[in-house]
Amino acid sequence: MHISLSNLAFKTPQLFPLHQPIFPPKLLHHQVSTQSHVNVLKGSGYLSEISKKIDNEEQYRIARSQVNRKVLDLEGYSIEGLSVGGQETCIIIPEFKCNFDIGRCPSRAINQNFLFITHAHLDHIGGLPMYVASRGLFNLKPPTVFVPPCIKEDVEKLLDIHRTMGQVELNAEVVALDVGETYEIRNNLVVRPFRTQHVIPSQGYVVYSIRKKLRKQYAHLNGKQIEKLKKAGAEITDTILSPEVAFTGDTTPDFMLDPCNSDALRAKILITEATFLDDSFSIDHARQRGHTHLFEIIANAEWIRNKAVLLTHFSPRYTIEDIRQAASKLQSRLSAKVVPLTEGFKSMYT
Ligand SMILES: [Zn+2]
Ligand SMILES: [Zn+2]
Repeated sequence: MHISLSNLAFKTPQLFPLHQPIFPPKLLHHQVSTQSHVNVLKGSGYLSEISKKIDNEEQYRIARSQVNRKVLDLEGYSIEGLSVGGQETCIIIPEFKCNFDIGRCPSRAINQNFLFITHAHLDHIGGLPMYVASRGLFNLKPPTVFVPPCIKEDVEKLLDIHRTMGQVELNAEVVALDVGETYEIRNNLVVRPFRTQHVIPSQGYVVYSIRKKLRKQYAHLNGKQIEKLKKAGAEITDTILSPEVAFTGDTTPDFMLDPCNSDALRAKILITEATFLDDSFSIDHARQRGHTHLFEIIANAEWIRNKAVLLTHFSPRYTIEDIRQAASKLQSRLSAKVVPLTEGFKSMYT
């Protein structure tokens, strides 16, 4: 398994209205002096001077965001976002142009065209109106928002209330996607919800890649023969669905015992939760709240066939050190592939 934490260069959209750029003192000084010389510069190219300053500031802003951007490279996917139990969960996978849940609305989430909502707790859906509004503000195409069918009507109502209150257009396609259904998000990528177990209706999602593979019975043929068969209208390929990433949202570990969920447990990456980590809270405490205790992940290790497991949604009472220490207690065959998402947590040293 390849895991690394890196700060990667990327292009951000123009996000000025929501984000005040943080200018270094030097630039601020230049900005002021530019303004004080406006009259002098008038008629002698001052506009190009100003646009040069704006370019500098934009470059500085992009450089800052690159330094601050934290990306987890897991199995060929660059995963961003944060997940703090009860506060906010949003996992971003740029390769799929998608977000899983949107408790608040991190700026990187705005770029993604698809949003998959697991359930209606505020720490997973609270950022939805802001996400839709921000995409409109930046002239990005209306997002497609997938929700469990039982909340679709309420999600539409929620957006309607914001349209009325704010007198704004909020354009989004809200799609009710049920367990067992398949949706093609692009020609080589589909998504399927799967059942999870939480205190309110919930579902996870598996994203599959699709590829065509030559049927075994034609494997011995050469290119010309295959071409001939194709022209004759023969079906020469099989469609292979490979589960790439599974996201559970909030759930007890019982989802692992459902035979229909085997794809979630063999996807390259499983993103799941471990809200409680140690003896200060019992497994019963976690179960009553529809969550997973780390001890239960240990107990169910045999079902986890994924190449990488990203653990999320830790209770905010834990520090980064608590989380790392708890993860280090996993059995060796699990610890090699488990990565805790500590973004958004405090260190005991700060
Ligand atoms: Zn939650
Ligand atoms: Zn929840």
